[in-house]
Amino acid sequence: MSEPTRSRAIYEGKAKILYEIEGDPEHLILYFKDDATAFNAKKRGSWERKGVVNSKISAALTTLVQKAGVPTHFVRNLSEREQLVRRVEIVPVEVVVRNRIAGSLARRLGMEEGGELSHPFVEHYYKSDSLDDPMLLRQWILEFGFATESELVQMREYALTINRVVGDFFDSLGIVLIDFKVEFGRIGDSIVLADEITPDGSRLWEKGTNRKLDKDRFRRDLGDVAETYEELLQRVEAAIQQS
Ligand code: ADP
Ligand code: MG
Repeated sequence: MSEPTRSRAIYEGKAKILYEIEGDPEHLILYFKDDATAFNAKKRGSWERKGVVNSKISAALTTLVQKAGVPTHFVRNLSEREQLVRRVEIVPVEVVVRNRIAGSLARRLGMEEGGELSHPFVEHYYKSDSLDDPMLLRQWILEFGFATESELVQMREYALTINRVVGDFFDSLGIVLIDFKVEFGRIGDSIVLADEITPDGSRLWEKGTNRKLDKDRFRRDLGDVAETYEELLQRVEAAIQQS
């Protein structure tokens, strides 16, 4: 197989760039930048190796999920921060799974972070930077055609499988998966996991200490952001090598 050659950048987002590939309309190159943003890009930062760390963590977790039977866009790593992925039509509905109270759920209901939930919650948000990713009701998603009934069922099932597989994996590392966001895409009639699974879109707390190992370190100025991302990568890679 010849190495895919980057052609035009078709999209530059907050954390990644998508490149088309010469002569291959079915795949894209996903390039992980060193930029970090929070609060819908009202807060911006960047640190060296951030993109490398996120790409590696995402590739490792996406591969785990793929092995558990969830189809994904990931094909292979092309470099430390570039992935060959299948080109999808992104479903404009971000799927959030929560295992504990944190983030916007805590803020909106005036609750303390860390409280247990009796079962995982699956929530939907509209992927729209200009609208600040508002929460969606099921009937809005269906009425406005953001996703179909069967896509919602499929995305829910995949999201809960991802929660179980990634949650069990982090549990074995002494880390609690508090919540996470994923995006799905369409290829023909099927739904596949797209985008990334990274500490940018997840909450990961060290068991016992509740030390945060995710983007809340950046959002809330908790310090040691780059070091903590590196530590997380090392713990993930050590566990993957053992398995
Ligand atoms: P954003 O600022 O929109 O979150 P990112 O910096 O995360 O953007 O860049 C990645 C963009 O590419 C996202 O909008 C995501 O939905 C999209 N994307 C991710 N994977 C794929 C794929 N396989 N095919 C097409 N688009 C994708
Ligand atoms: Mg993104």
